[in-house]
Amino acid sequence: MLKIQQTPYNQHINDCLLKKKEIDLYVKREDVLHQHISGNKFRKLYYNIIAAQAQQHDTLLTFGGAFSNHIAATAAAGKEYGFKTIGVIRGDELGKNLSKTLAENPTLQFAATQGMEFYFVSRKAYREKTQADFIDKLSQSFGRFYLVPEGGTNALAVRGTEEILRPEDMDFDYVCSAIGTGGTIAGIINSSATNQKILGFPALKEDFLNHNIQQYTQKDNWSLVRDYHFGGFGKIDKKLVDFINMVKTLHHLPLDPIYTGKMFYGIIDLIKKDYFPKGSKILAVHTGGLQGREGMNWRLQKKGLPLLKL
Ligand SMILES: *Cc1c(COP(=O)(O)O)cnc(C)c1O
Repeated sequence: MLKIQQTPYNQHINDCLLKKKEIDLYVKREDVLHQHISGNKFRKLYYNIIAAQAQQHDTLLTFGGAFSNHIAATAAAGKEYGFKTIGVIRGDELGKNLSKTLAENPTLQFAATQGMEFYFVSRKAYREKTQADFIDKLSQSFGRFYLVPEGGTNALAVRGTEEILRPEDMDFDYVCSAIGTGGTIAGIINSSATNQKILGFPALKEDFLNHNIQQYTQKDNWSLVRDYHFGGFGKIDKKLVDFINMVKTLHHLPLDPIYTGKMFYGIIDLIKKDYFPKGSKILAVHTGGLQGREGMNWRLQKKGLPLLKL
């Protein structure tokens, strides 16, 4: 069973914009749950690890992009709980010179130190990763394994993300979360009060999320805010880097560039635009992902953009 290292807490954000607009904003610091299995990835792995142990598996296999928070978290969880881990990674070019790849990619480098074994596949093969043929081939290569889906979302993951909201959070009017696959927000919706409004901020521009979320929840007190993906998954610009650095300096709140930075930018922008009624109490869930900052800095440096402060 995964062990919580630090109990999440709600950080109050003190800011003149918020005072002027009469908005009360808190951030639920789920990022502090565990040093390496951070935020929502901890929640999503929790019941999966218990299931894998109960089914006497010794290997976890999962999928992800080269900078994936889920890959880093699964590698660390495997190490801590005695599983061998296999990461099926998108991008066969990355496997051609592994030492160069690891030198330029802090996420994969970390996963390797946790003992993860990589299997690099082409983008085309990666798209077929949920098909039976592909899984069969993986079994032939790697033997018996417990399969954790891409991003970690399945029914057990949602059971874990249902534990993000606590009874004392029920008096927030709005709860906000970043979205990748939708598993995290589904759990938040499930455990919310029906008079609360849950707002999801997708980190990608594709339009399959409503369906993914509906698969795991019956409730309808939620909606998506699609205006803050910054051009798509993993895309970033100077405005976002400056914003994340400013929030860190002013509020001692570290944000990641893929998910929570975009969500927080969106929340502040919506507050400026008077989206929330005066007197609203808002809870933004910090889903973690801070390990991704270093990898992003590699890319920012190549583009000549300012770097994220670590
Ligand atoms: C993976 C991730 C998400 C997306 O979670 P989903 O359950 O896939 O929607 C959000 N925030 C962070 C920091 C993540 O690492």
